[in-house]
Amino acid sequence: MKKFILNNISRLPIFINKLLLKLNRSPSLIYGQEYANFFKSLQEEEEYDNEKDLINLINRSIDDVPYYSKYQKISTIKDFESQFDFIDKDVVSRNFDILKSKTMNEDDYEIVTTGGTGGNPLKLLVPRNRYIVELSVMHDMWSRVEFRHHTRAVIRNRKLEESQEYIINPITKEVIFDGFRLNSNYFQKIYDIIKFFNIQYIHAYPSTAYEFSRFIYDNKLDISFVKAFLSGSENVYKYQKEFITKKLGVLFYNWYGHSEKLVLGGYCSYSDNYHIEPRYGYFELIDREGNPINTPGRVGEIVGTTLNNYGMPLIRYKTDDYAEYVGNYCEKCGRRVTLIKNIEGRRNGNKIYGADGSTVTTTALNFHDDLYMALAGLQYIQNEKGVLDVLIIKNNYFTENHEKRLKDHFKSKFSLGTRVNIKYVDKLIKKPNGKFVELLSTVK
Ligand SMILES: [Zn+2]
Repeated sequence: MKKFILNNISRLPIFINKLLLKLNRSPSLIYGQEYANFFKSLQEEEEYDNEKDLINLINRSIDDVPYYSKYQKISTIKDFESQFDFIDKDVVSRNFDILKSKTMNEDDYEIVTTGGTGGNPLKLLVPRNRYIVELSVMHDMWSRVEFRHHTRAVIRNRKLEESQEYIINPITKEVIFDGFRLNSNYFQKIYDIIKFFNIQYIHAYPSTAYEFSRFIYDNKLDISFVKAFLSGSENVYKYQKEFITKKLGVLFYNWYGHSEKLVLGGYCSYSDNYHIEPRYGYFELIDREGNPINTPGRVGEIVGTTLNNYGMPLIRYKTDDYAEYVGNYCEKCGRRVTLIKNIEGRRNGNKIYGADGSTVTTTALNFHDDLYMALAGLQYIQNEKGVLDVLIIKNNYFTENHEKRLKDHFKSKFSLGTRVNIKYVDKLIKKPNGKFVELLSTVK
């Protein structure tokens, strides 16, 4: 029904949609009073200690969830850390039935599957009203770049019908574009439409934000009406951020989240460290032995525990995402929250194999910024040990000298006998879900 209404609204004449987007000014009307209250509480309280919430959830889970019945009740974080084992995707898929609470009201929950493409999806039971926390915290984070329930252009994983250039959801205030049609012609259409609607926020994957920014820059289009890109769900590369913020002069707001939705954090108005949101979930960073990391500069795995899902609580869930610990206080915005940086998802692997079996990470292949500035795109493909294809999209600044430097660079990074083929292309390869990953590898 909702889908039917939306489809038909978006077929209304464009000026009516423009009016609807303008009239829609009340988040509580859209998302309900519970959302409005939660959002308000986030805006008002600077600091929030989630330890009590965690302890409540843990003790209730021990009573209600068969999988956790083996544990003793806890009263401190120390008890929690010393007692609870880590779980991961495999544990959850094997134990789906006994991870469900015996006392929950089934009507309040629904089953979702995550990580749909590449690998086996994970089935989870989640609260139907989860959007209250999820949207509130997200919108609160976006307010760091002065987002106040504005209309957004969304260029993500939506595939539209051939005949549709975009669709409009005046309720969520989204003008949605096709995330699988990213070429110059379509970028021009996107530009014309966001200008027509005077849209100030563009919600896109970092790789798309970057590609679109290059298009705007190369065609010398006016982008001064756009305030910020809102970007998440992919690794961010320095050259992307630098180009968008320095060359194009648009703010770039990035956040970290993961498909099981236990941890969320983003930039603040002044710093690109990720501020972990304590109302969203309980965060830990652990080393290989499972010990908590709280020394700046150390890298570990992100582990999350739900604070809201009593129906199927995931406790100490290892995300397979890694980050560097920065601290527990942001001097710039004054918030006392955990700060991390250099987040990297390793689900798709980041290792490239040389001819002798040694490995180099994609991070270690990074080169100088000025070399990046001559590229409009970069991707690594490995289907065989010792052979690497480097896909490169050149831009106008690219010269023979750049090519030589690239070759030297790669030669210096790999063991003898490794073949590196530089291939110039017009387009990089996206995964079926529309996301970009820097390395596509079939080598195990
Ligand atoms: Zn801050």
